[in-house]
Amino acid sequence: MVGDGAVDAHGESWDAERLYVCNGSVLPTAVGVNPMITIQPVAYCVANGIADSISDKTT
Ligand SMILES: Cc1cc2nc3c(=O)[nH]c(=O)nc-3n(C[C@H](O)[C@H](O)[C@H](O)COP(=O)(O)OP(=O)(O)OC[C@H]3O[C@@H](n4cnc5c(N)ncnc54)[C@H](O)[C@@H]3O)c2cc1C
Repeated sequence: MVGDGAVDAHGESWDAERLYVCNGSVLPTAVGVNPMITIQPVAYCVANGIADSISDKTT
């Protein structure tokens, strides 16, 4: 929801269409433990979503 973060659940910016964020900056707060294993699957999911959205448009 706008106001809860800079991007939506797919990592896409609320403000700039097709601007995706897929690094540690999408974590809403400091996680308190080593974050890399969390950042990697988040980036993977965002990347898959981008790939799906591209293939939806080409098929
Ligand atoms: C010394 C150190 C040890 C760490 N050890 C651990 C650990 O043991 N376990 C753990 O979970 N976390 C660890 N972390 C934290 C972890 O590395 C980071 O949280 C994680 O790498 C962040 O991932 P990211 O993708 O958000 O950013 P990054 O991994 O920083 O990736 C950003 C990338 O963007 C590139 N870039 C920057 N500017 C531009 C530009 N203008 N154009 C193109 N590319 C650009 C950079 O070169 C870099 O490759 C450690 C961090 C440090 C510094």
